[in-house]
Amino acid sequence: CGIVAHHGTRPALPVLLDGLGRLEYRGYDSVGIALDPGGGASPHVHRSAGRLPALVAALPPEADEPTTGIGHTRWATHGPPVPANAHPHRDCTGRVALVHNGTLSDANRLRAELAAQGHLVATEVDSELVAHRIEDALPLVPALADVVAAVAAAVRGLRGAWALAVLVAGVDGVVLARRGSPLLVGSAPGRRMAASDELGLDPAVTEARELPEGHLAALGDEVTWFDADARPVPAPLPWPLAGRA
Ligand code: GLU
Repeated sequence: CGIVAHHGTRPALPVLLDGLGRLEYRGYDSVGIALDPGGGASPHVHRSAGRLPALVAALPPEADEPTTGIGHTRWATHGPPVPANAHPHRDCTGRVALVHNGTLSDANRLRAELAAQGHLVATEVDSELVAHRIEDALPLVPALADVVAAVAAAVRGLRGAWALAVLVAGVDGVVLARRGSPLLVGSAPGRRMAASDELGLDPAVTEARELPEGHLAALGDEVTWFDADARPVPAPLPWPLAGRA
């Protein structure tokens, strides 16, 4: 599948939808986005089975305003392509929303573990399990650094492959993590973004950096980079994107 994430001072929606359109070749059985409405409210999630036009037709006018969001075009591995299984997935409280590209190979074990801890897992999708694990690791009033630490804790010990983009209510930014699935990060004036490949990055982004295997990054006022233990590390070297000014 394909994922895309945006944080900036300009509306997220057009960049997310354009990016998803160009990533559809990676999978197109369902599509969804989550937007940060601001003011500490939970991310607003919009999802459809089928392709992008179905999602666009169902978006409310207020979706035009948020400047932070994540998106996903799905190729189902766990659970059929119905709207309830489309990404973004959420924890029980709704304050965590994430998109996931990849497959968890120990989903059954994780599901049993979460159920035993009292989590109400709503879908058959492996990706939802990660949202519950992040929720468990978050303080009551998190800052962006707390989300980085919570995502690092949530993916520690997981088996399989993932590229993740995570939104948390009240936190201005997007946290990224990957192992085994690709994720590129780029910036343009007024925006910082990430996508599964170059095609998903806005045409205004002229250079990309690859999130190193096993590492995390945060799209905030700037892009910050972390190792698997959420310790800051230098940014990886960028490369120019062919055919862009
Ligand atoms: N395993 C996840 C699912 O079944 C993600 C699949 C994908 O990468 O599209 O929804």
